[in-house]
Amino acid sequence: MRVIAVDLGATNLRVALFDDGSLVRVARSRTPREGGRESVARTIVSMARSLLGGDRPDAVGIASIGPLDLERGWVVGTPNHPLRSFPLRGPVEEGLGAPVYLYNDCVAAVWGEKVLGSGRGMRDLGYITISSGIGGGFIVDDRLLIGRRGNAHEVGHMVVDLDSGAVCGCGGVGHWEALASGVNIPRTAALYASSWGGPASRAYEAAREGRLSPEALYSLARQGDPFASSLVDYLNRVHAAGLASVAAAYDPEAVFLGGSVYLNNEDLILPGVKRYLARYSIWVPELRRATYGHDAVLYGAAAVALEPPG
Ligand SMILES: [Zn+2]
Repeated sequence: MRVIAVDLGATNLRVALFDDGSLVRVARSRTPREGGRESVARTIVSMARSLLGGDRPDAVGIASIGPLDLERGWVVGTPNHPLRSFPLRGPVEEGLGAPVYLYNDCVAAVWGEKVLGSGRGMRDLGYITISSGIGGGFIVDDRLLIGRRGNAHEVGHMVVDLDSGAVCGCGGVGHWEALASGVNIPRTAALYASSWGGPASRAYEAAREGRLSPEALYSLARQGDPFASSLVDYLNRVHAAGLASVAAAYDPEAVFLGGSVYLNNEDLILPGVKRYLARYSIWVPELRRATYGHDAVLYGAAAVALEPPG
């Protein structure tokens, strides 16, 4: 079975050809930001056609930024792309002559763990991305959770800190994503610096100026910078609080962790998160690295095309 898998991010677009679960070829592009509502779908179709070389795929899986309206097959009102709302399923189905299965990126990724990854055989599992944002996907009682329009389990917007005052991109306060996602780490670092009682350091100086990037934070923590190490510990508590809520809500056997902030810094994140999770959580799921690492969403897109979720 030959399927097209699409990983549609706000900035980057990847389209891949899979043959029975094996990646054959992948094409990359920037996500079109202008050219009208159908420009994203048109780009997907033309990238897929050049991978297929004249063949027709058996199915297409699209793992997309949200929010989604699955009834219409559209991205609707996304804050991360200038087009805001645009159709995907209709024009891609028409352009490639094959059924299109559209899901939120993390929802597809958890399906990928179950169908193609090391979540095979599990009936209850989750996938969490810790990246520029924080999001998740869940399978409970062997069923993929979707929600009314396809946006269930927006776990990045769980409240994990009542007192931080950190305002989220969604407008809420104290959300997991507002505190610990890649985009928000410089702001959290600045907040943390404003009440820091320890010694000044390179990370502290950068944080005070609001320019402590996730890369610099974790690399300085690795070098023993006291401010960076303390902030990493705080962020691990935030992640553990989020995961404790996830465990309470969904009771998963395992949670797969992906996203670039996590994957590039697993050595500093996983041990601390495990320690705090054992303290915070009603029950502690197994934490596992995403089977396909940085390609978790792409494999998820392939998985929804190969074995569409019931
Ligand atoms: Zn939020």
